[in-house]
Amino acid sequence: MSSTSRFLCAPLRGVVVPLGEVPDPAFAEGALGPGVAIDPLDETLHAPFDGEVIQCARTAHALTLRDDHGHEWLLHIGIDTVDLGGEGFELLVATGDRVSVGDPLCRFDVDGLSRRAKALVTPIVVTNASDLALETLVKPGTIVDKGEVLLQWQAPVPAAEIAGREVSTQASARGEATIAAAHGLHARPASRLRSIAQKHDVELRLGRDDEAGKDRSDVDGASVASLSALLNLGLIRGDRVLVTARGAAAQAAVDAAVMLLETPEHDAGRADVCAGPSVAPAAEATPGTLNGLSASPGLAVGPLVRYRAALPRVADTADDPERERRALAAAVAEVDADLERSMRAAGSRGQQAEADIFEAHRAWLDDPDLRASAESKIAEGASAGRAWYLALETEIQRLRGSGNALLAGRADDLHDLQRQVMQRFATHDAVATTGLEGAILVAREMAPSQFVEVAGQIGGLCLAGGGSTSHVSILARTRGLPCLVAMGDALLEASGERVCLDADRGRLELAPDERRLAAVEAEQARQRQRSEADLAVAFEPVTMRDGRHLHVAANIASGAEAQGALDAGADGVGLMRSEFLFLARQTAPDLAEQQAEYRAAVEAMAGRPVVVRLLDIGADKQLPYLALPATPNPALGERGARLWQAHPEMFDTQLDALLEAGRGLPVCEDGLTRLRLMVPMIADVGELRWVRRRLATRAAALGIERLPSLGAMVEVPTAALCAGTLAGEADFLSIGTNDLTQYALAMDREVASLAARSDVLHPGVLRLIALCLEGAGGRCPVAVCGTAAGDPLAGALLAAMGVDELSVEPARVAVVKATLRRLDAEALAAQLPALLALDDAAAVREALATMLASSAEAATPASGDATTSTDTTTRS
Ligand code: PEP
Ligand code: MG
Repeated sequence: MSSTSRFLCAPLRGVVVPLGEVPDPAFAEGALGPGVAIDPLDETLHAPFDGEVIQCARTAHALTLRDDHGHEWLLHIGIDTVDLGGEGFELLVATGDRVSVGDPLCRFDVDGLSRRAKALVTPIVVTNASDLALETLVKPGTIVDKGEVLLQWQAPVPAAEIAGREVSTQASARGEATIAAAHGLHARPASRLRSIAQKHDVELRLGRDDEAGKDRSDVDGASVASLSALLNLGLIRGDRVLVTARGAAAQAAVDAAVMLLETPEHDAGRADVCAGPSVAPAAEATPGTLNGLSASPGLAVGPLVRYRAALPRVADTADDPERERRALAAAVAEVDADLERSMRAAGSRGQQAEADIFEAHRAWLDDPDLRASAESKIAEGASAGRAWYLALETEIQRLRGSGNALLAGRADDLHDLQRQVMQRFATHDAVATTGLEGAILVAREMAPSQFVEVAGQIGGLCLAGGGSTSHVSILARTRGLPCLVAMGDALLEASGERVCLDADRGRLELAPDERRLAAVEAEQARQRQRSEADLAVAFEPVTMRDGRHLHVAANIASGAEAQGALDAGADGVGLMRSEFLFLARQTAPDLAEQQAEYRAAVEAMAGRPVVVRLLDIGADKQLPYLALPATPNPALGERGARLWQAHPEMFDTQLDALLEAGRGLPVCEDGLTRLRLMVPMIADVGELRWVRRRLATRAAALGIERLPSLGAMVEVPTAALCAGTLAGEADFLSIGTNDLTQYALAMDREVASLAARSDVLHPGVLRLIALCLEGAGGRCPVAVCGTAAGDPLAGALLAAMGVDELSVEPARVAVVKATLRRLDAEALAAQLPALLALDDAAAVREALATMLASSAEAATPASGDATTSTDTTTRS
């Protein structure tokens, strides 16, 4: 009988134990079915295959999953753990959930269980196929990594299917088509051809048909299973192709393929496959100019350079090819599972173009030619990571050298896949990207860690996606680096040896002439002069024209940045985003490292207050070593204090480090401690009380008597509405306008197409802020640390509304102080009811700009920052 191999991946890292050695006769004697067990070294159980959760034990210690071939697998964490009544387990899925290999299923407290359970060893058995001959691919007694292929078996191919296949191999069909897609046969339609072949279970091939009249029975062409082979046909619009299929449904498959090839794409104007979410194409204001949303103001001139993420370093060689082969299969499966999740999420958001992109990436991963090439390198002694690098590099070079701009563009997609799989084998962090001095860097999206790596070299940044409150935008402002976001896909096709990035006006000029370049140079000189003048008085406290004082503090991401904040004239640190210490590394920083970082910030600020925001992980900020449960909408998933309750060890280490860093420091003039803690994502006062109790417990354990001052961020609308209650418990409040705006308007701050409308100046968001200030009622100080604080218009309005502090990126401290000194806050406050009565943010922006411009005429003209009515900048 014909058969096919099937696999199961390890659901967690641990020591492989034969089932016969499990200390429970029901498992050891095979009564529950054949299988294997793992003694866990991890605390999260993951899906070992794609399938469905068909049962979750009420006590959360065991789950049954059905794989896509009908086998039902029981995953049982520990022995006799049912007796624990669910304590120490946290289910991350529910019965009926569809899961992909690698999805987290259940988190458990290894330390607690190892004290209370008979054993932690976790059997994995198939319960509805007692005669299944399983082969364990990892030696008992050795450690298997999560996701590594653990079990293999041969599954008989059903007789009906075999009969079908036999018939099918005889059936064949052929058809002809003319390529209609404007960009030719690029990766997206190519991956759809592959789906057609899979759906009809046929072997589908495509060949050039450029020799009219010739007997074409020998046209062989490329299998659609191989994306690289298909793209290397180099088919462009108007090319004739032959489509052939073998299999029972050959004719239907050929018909579907011909129809696909002959149908022009609806979005033919769009660029082809690019990693990451799609955004609306940027409007081209004038020929040779691309528009975007200004995330960080400034002017820069330089060559336009496309960003390529640095590749991680991997081992060159390995001595067990079989193990490497399995490791590569597991890594590819993991990346594929990630892509599938992204594809499904995009599909469920209705973003089909984006889903197609991920589908195309999955097709690359599944390309048999690439896989075979990697496996042959492994056979020659290469490690899995190196073999993957070499296999894809050959293809990347081929695409780049093809002379076809479209194919060359696909090299970036392959580079991304190269990096994602290699990341699974990284021995060291990536080699730093160099050679970008003065470049205007172009990328679709960038992770904060990627930005930090290149920020010191580049002159400016242009992103096709992103929003002005995304974390890369925040980092760009921190450094005073001109940056435009939400520029659309047209950006990715742009080129230029000497372009001008005018982030003040939201424009990228691709071919500025000499006159324009001279004007830019003059403007840069003027800006330098103005900021020198602002900086000269930046160390003075701010008194507004109506006599009120206001603090201008800085937002920083590390202890080292505190020095820059002080040099910029900041009155303190209003927000230290501590999660940046945790990002872009393989393990969490330990107590000593964190303590040193917090202490460095305090020392640099020389007596001024430093507010450290406790770890704010979730949404766009993910840690590789902290698997968060997959959730359809991460911005609404487990975040802030709710996340810490699930990871008390990490949270306690941070509290201890902060307590130690603040030990023995004198209090500030305002009666609060010099080092202050701030809790993100607070939804109600109970969460803040939980943190205070935990802080008190940790302080008692460390023998520290005085607790640091504890504040709450107001970034969830309920926190703004309940500010009265919060102010009774908090030592201070700080409004995080980035998240407050996104949650109030239900507009994701990471979605580029919403960036222009996701504006803090929406009358509804302003009303929430007004309610927050009214609720706090002077019982504790209220700051603003979101991007709005540094927005020329919004910052002025917030000052007029009565906030006590604006905390902005260091590069904006001087200009914000200069602007506030010219502001008559009382007069502007009188206009607030009129602004709140307007229809939308655009109307408020316009009215506010007019008010400030006329009020500025009455003041000494200086930077003119608040009167920049062309402002497309910094929102929320
Ligand atoms: C905010 O939400 O406004 C804020 C300051 O926090 P972050 O931007 O880091 O989410
Ligand atoms: Mg926030």
